[in-house]
Amino acid sequence: MPKASRILLPGFLAIAAFAAQAQDAPVTPAQKSAAKEITSELIRSHIRFLASDLLEGRGPATRGDQLAEAYIQSQLEGLGLGPGAPGGGWIQKVPLVGIRLTSSEPAIFKSGRGALSGALGENFVAVSGVQKPESRIDAAEIVFVGYGIVAPEYRWDDYKDADLDGKVLLVMNNDPDGSPQEPNLFAGKTRLWYGRWDYKYLMAAKKGAVGAIIIHTTPSAGYPWQVVQSTLAGERFELPDDGAPRVAAKMWATEALAKGIVELGGRDLDSLRASAENRSFKPVPLGVTVSLALTNAIGRKESGNVIGVLRGSDPKRAGEAVIYTAHHDHFGIQPGARPGSDPIYHGALDNASGVAAILSVAKAFASLRVAPARSTYFAFVAGEEQGLLGSEYLAKHSPVPAGRIAADINIDGIGWFGRTRDVVLIGLGKSSLDGDVKAVAAMQGRRVEGDQFPDRGTFYRSDQFSFARVGVPAAYLKKGTDVIGKPPGFGREQEENYEKTDYHQPTDTFRETWDFSGAVEDVQLAFWLGCRLADAPELPRWSRGDEFEATRLKAVREAGVPY
Ligand SMILES: [Zn+2]
Repeated sequence: MPKASRILLPGFLAIAAFAAQAQDAPVTPAQKSAAKEITSELIRSHIRFLASDLLEGRGPATRGDQLAEAYIQSQLEGLGLGPGAPGGGWIQKVPLVGIRLTSSEPAIFKSGRGALSGALGENFVAVSGVQKPESRIDAAEIVFVGYGIVAPEYRWDDYKDADLDGKVLLVMNNDPDGSPQEPNLFAGKTRLWYGRWDYKYLMAAKKGAVGAIIIHTTPSAGYPWQVVQSTLAGERFELPDDGAPRVAAKMWATEALAKGIVELGGRDLDSLRASAENRSFKPVPLGVTVSLALTNAIGRKESGNVIGVLRGSDPKRAGEAVIYTAHHDHFGIQPGARPGSDPIYHGALDNASGVAAILSVAKAFASLRVAPARSTYFAFVAGEEQGLLGSEYLAKHSPVPAGRIAADINIDGIGWFGRTRDVVLIGLGKSSLDGDVKAVAAMQGRRVEGDQFPDRGTFYRSDQFSFARVGVPAAYLKKGTDVIGKPPGFGREQEENYEKTDYHQPTDTFRETWDFSGAVEDVQLAFWLGCRLADAPELPRWSRGDEFEATRLKAVREAGVPY
């Protein structure tokens, strides 16, 4: 509040001061009161239905998937919103390619010193990198490439000019941690995109390699070997091949197998890894070859992004947009579940709850008598659990060009254990959205915290990342853990228990006992954040030097938006 308004002013000055103050408020009074539409009962009702047995776990391209899409479309239509899919309609069809591994032959590693085998599902995991019935690697030479990172902003290039055509890369997971001299190198202990396994395979393909083997260690992955093993089960989905470079096989090895491979080449894994902590590192050919043949069942399928829109009220800015996202898919029905156990992946928190949250936000927007200046899109995206597929497709085939999207606001899971003094912004520090989130949180008397588990790379693991990749600043909002009326540590313990027992398990079911009072506040905050961004004179910006800034500048230039 400006200081002047605290002293007594004559009538007209007081009115002017009030107007100025209202302009400074994070949202308008009408927007403030529209948040009353967001209630525990509303959130509860959507989750109860979406997580029920009837929807059979909402697996991509299943009947449950179609039911979820139909339900969401009905809700949006009933609110009086418009259909928002590009080219018209409520549903943007998302083409999918299903890939199921049908072979189990081990990989063979060979050198003059001897041979080793990588047994699929034991010490070795391989999935096809191509959408073909067979993918093979014939005696390709293995090259150790350290972290496998090229990051000009950190003056880092693990590849130098090595010729990696037709080779298989052996890669360390995660990214360098920084040092006492350079604590901010790769953002210290925070995992960046460079530290994600998807980045490693993508770089390997760009370098012309036919495959990459990531060395698994639990600290560098952030999860145990069983999680890697589980990628072999069932059908995986991808977007159709768009001609971008691909490796024939994406592979993981246990640390023990990786040590054995390196020893076949007469070297020591620990000293190789130590050398990779340095900028001067160069790729090291190991003198070891690998052969592998995978057979795959390939199927063409389809899912859908459900999209509604509230058109902006300012004709000059209605062509710009704020976009909300929440994924509606989960894992469907567990193949080969134990008799008597519940085989349905209900995905109540992940992410029926996020869908419920954004449907509630949509209701609050629909209740406004005057829509915000920019248009607001509500996108319920497909195939997130398969690798952010629906949001990637939407970001690449968007109803509004990326340079005209102010921001993406994503919700993937809400709080179930009461009101909190804090709210979490994943990606805090990355963009000017920090200030907007703090302004609306302050209206609630709450504080904003960053990621509580920075080593997990959470920013790159839900749908906001698909928008960041095309340059759109993104806010991924998550529940706080500082719970009102509970002892310190209670919220974190709840979250850790969920991760241990229910996360990505059939036991992520709807519970009558859940307390959504905190979720209501988080969802109201998400609503106000969107209102504020849709009305703001300027588009949000990435922090200077952020990994997505260059893409943004190009996107706004292409869209011809003043920036
Ligand atoms: Zn999930």
